[in-house]
Amino acid sequence: MNIFDSMPTEQELKNLIDSKAISSKSALVMAQTYYQNGDYEKCIEIYLIIIEMQKDPIEKKETLYLLGRTYFKAGFLERAQEIFLQILKQFPRTPKALRYLLIIYEKMHQFDKALEVLEPLDELGIDNRKDRIYLQCVAIIRSAEYGVNEKAELLLALYKEHHILSYLIFEYLFRFTPQMAWQNLDLGEAQRIVDILWNAREAESNLDIIHTNSYLRELFSAKGLELSVTESSLFEFDVLIKLNIADQGGATLQFDYLCGECKQIYPFAFHRCPNCNGIDTVVTEMLLTKDHFEENSSLQ
Ligand SMILES: [Zn+2]
Repeated sequence: MNIFDSMPTEQELKNLIDSKAISSKSALVMAQTYYQNGDYEKCIEIYLIIIEMQKDPIEKKETLYLLGRTYFKAGFLERAQEIFLQILKQFPRTPKALRYLLIIYEKMHQFDKALEVLEPLDELGIDNRKDRIYLQCVAIIRSAEYGVNEKAELLLALYKEHHILSYLIFEYLFRFTPQMAWQNLDLGEAQRIVDILWNAREAESNLDIIHTNSYLRELFSAKGLELSVTESSLFEFDVLIKLNIADQGGATLQFDYLCGECKQIYPFAFHRCPNCNGIDTVVTEMLLTKDHFEENSSLQ
């Protein structure tokens, strides 16, 4: 019988492994196949059966890790947390379990606990600078203690000190304190936050800043501001600028978001990659598309 052709029931699986008809090694391979196919329920069942039978603590630890990872992937954060804590109780120096625990606390918005997990990771010699600053930023944004302006000041102070997380920080600033965002805009990051700038409020009141930078001049000419720009070396901007000059509508920009680490593409921006968990890896890509708003209004 080919075990991959049909889906054995829990009892059949238990019998197969119990009777040594399949080794725990091939049961692990089977679980991995279910994991890759997104059948986490079956995958979890197999790991639980294997763990029950495993005697060697190191082997058991590995299977527990795989189980915790599967609970995490399936969205059972509390169960995943329990499993990783169970591993760490016996093996405190397990970086991969600590890393998952950190992300679980972060997802549960328990930022103090997440920051605590950084300490044992630090002791293991793992560089956590980015994680620490990121957690500080997210904790500030979600804090009930500060008002909008205080949050903006704190985020900006972190940005000026560390020069990372430009997407996260300027997204907040442009959304809640646009004047502060314009005044402190890091022009070197303009391409990275092109979507935020494209949708930025109060662009018209900040023409003096826009005028100082050729990328901003081209971007806002493409958007339709009168800035005496006639062309751009960037195809998308160039097309939009020429359409605006000809007084033609019908096109606009849309954005895609690529993870610079794992290269996954998403239709939404992210601060921690949902696939590889990388922080601050977002790369904004623009796409020229039909402007449906224009299209619809021209029909009326
Ligand atoms: Zn990624």
